[in-house]
Amino acid sequence: MCGIVGYIGNKPVYDILITGLKKLEYRGYDSAGVMIYDKSLLIKKSKGKVADLESLFVNDQDKKGSIGMGHTRWATHGAPNQINSHPHVSNSGEISLVHNGIIENYHSLKSVLLKKGYVFKSDTDSEVLVNLIEDIKKTKKIKLGKATYFALKQVVGAYAIAVFDSTNPTEIITAKLGSPLAIGVGESEYYIGSDPSPFLEFTKRCIYLNDNEMAIINLKKGLTLRDIKKDSIIDPFIEELKHDIEEVEKGGYDHFMLKEIFEQPKSIKDTFRGRLLSPSLPIKISSIEMHFDKFRSANRIIFISCGTSWHASLLAEYYFEELIRIPVKVEYASEFRYRNPVINKGDIVIPVSQSGETADTLAAIKMAKEKGAFLYGICNVVGSTIARETDTGVYTHAGSEIGVASTKAFSCQISLLLLMALDIGKRLGRIEEIRYQKIIKELAAIPKTIESVLSKSKHIEDISENFLEASNFIYLGRGYHFPIALEGALKLKEISYIHAEGYPAAEMKHGPIALIDKYMPVVIIATNKSNYHKVVSNIMEIKARGGRIIAIVSSGDTEVKKLAEYTIEIPNCDELIAPILANIPLQLLSYYIANKKGCNIDQPRNLAKSVTVE
Ligand code: GLU
Repeated sequence: MCGIVGYIGNKPVYDILITGLKKLEYRGYDSAGVMIYDKSLLIKKSKGKVADLESLFVNDQDKKGSIGMGHTRWATHGAPNQINSHPHVSNSGEISLVHNGIIENYHSLKSVLLKKGYVFKSDTDSEVLVNLIEDIKKTKKIKLGKATYFALKQVVGAYAIAVFDSTNPTEIITAKLGSPLAIGVGESEYYIGSDPSPFLEFTKRCIYLNDNEMAIINLKKGLTLRDIKKDSIIDPFIEELKHDIEEVEKGGYDHFMLKEIFEQPKSIKDTFRGRLLSPSLPIKISSIEMHFDKFRSANRIIFISCGTSWHASLLAEYYFEELIRIPVKVEYASEFRYRNPVINKGDIVIPVSQSGETADTLAAIKMAKEKGAFLYGICNVVGSTIARETDTGVYTHAGSEIGVASTKAFSCQISLLLLMALDIGKRLGRIEEIRYQKIIKELAAIPKTIESVLSKSKHIEDISENFLEASNFIYLGRGYHFPIALEGALKLKEISYIHAEGYPAAEMKHGPIALIDKYMPVVIIATNKSNYHKVVSNIMEIKARGGRIIAIVSSGDTEVKKLAEYTIEIPNCDELIAPILANIPLQLLSYYIANKKGCNIDQPRNLAKSVTVE
């Protein structure tokens, strides 16, 4: 993971680096560092947050300089401490580097360098790369750009890097393979970012580096883009970004996560914009329209994803099989890529990812592509690698999600997946018209319905007070609610560090019921449709064993209310709509528990937002 920033131009670089790093902290926040060049090289690094790094700058003299790079780390190799944090500097002290990714063959490269007398201060793979670049530069007597090029040819793994040579301080070299890198193009100045947020307030002109591309950014000569594989110069494609800077501010909420929970009605409206114009008009998802022949002839649909997106994919399995009647398989990208899955002609592979940069999902895409699958990507971040690596696809348009625990991106994913299932099912003539009309009407109204669920936040906050001491939770749901139970448990784990597990409600008696006692809170989704009475029986079983029950019920419910300690109502709705609504109180419950426990909501320990390493 990790976030990279950089600047080369005429403005003072310090503030650009620090504010940029703060915007990228969602990518990693166990340590941070910067390099600033002003006649000589200044490196400052610190364990902890960017704020800790900031406190090292007591002297304004240190803030001078108009060229620099910064890094906020999510450790892969070596503990999160000051020495292992970036930038890393070569043995001569001349070359510095920030790196996001993993150099998989760092061990063998390091042994060669050790034999040549190189000394390593850190345990990182990144320090090996900076010394490899130096070694090549010195032995071949070439410039930094060429040396970086030769070094990258030897590297196995993933990287987004920025490299600086203090003997030629008018140039920064960047390159990408696997991890993301964006370059902001200003007037005689360039910005570097793992995503464009660090430079959005300065320029909207952006070059997204593609894999195997290297940009030599020279203050005098401008930017030269090279294809590392072909060793040739390519024309950079400068995109005009449409991102909104306000979008990434907290807007009066205590945390990004809370803001993002409350933004869901608007985000889902954005997901539907131009696609669900009115319940009476056909759904318009252009990528489905254009590639409908693929869906018509599909033998199977395989979803590949990780984490929360995997839960969205699991719900999609229920939606797609119900409404489209094509067999669906849901795979963890990390498992899929390392086995030998059977992919036949006529299979559609649908990767789902918020960031569009998830390393395991990207690798799975590559593999599915090699096996000839048709790839239909679903992601949130416009221009991300998944969007570029798939045959076609659709954006969720949830807007920037900064909170590490995904909320609005998930709601937009599941709303979009239901919309897709309705669209494909209708086109294939596999949904009864009356059913279609009922669901589509409720789906179109979902932004409003979610507002009514959000209006219960105070009630949910009050409930949360009673569970601050819990050390375990169980989440149960049947059918469409099973993936939501998994997601609810994940949300709680991620931000409150309370151990939580999700199960299909009926699985209880096959093991987990042994855990039930008066110390075990059980969150159970018990809305009033098909499996209602079965879920009520499950609630009885838990109650009989002294478990504490928090139930999500349909409004007007009387039966579960008699059994549960606490209930949270969601509006009456179709069973396909209910999981989208039931998820909202679970998000809020996790948020309030974690907040009252004093946890770091937006940046939970050990996590990072965009998982760009394996
Ligand atoms: N491998 C590098 C380190 O551990 C970078 C980590 C990353 O990008 O997540 O320092």
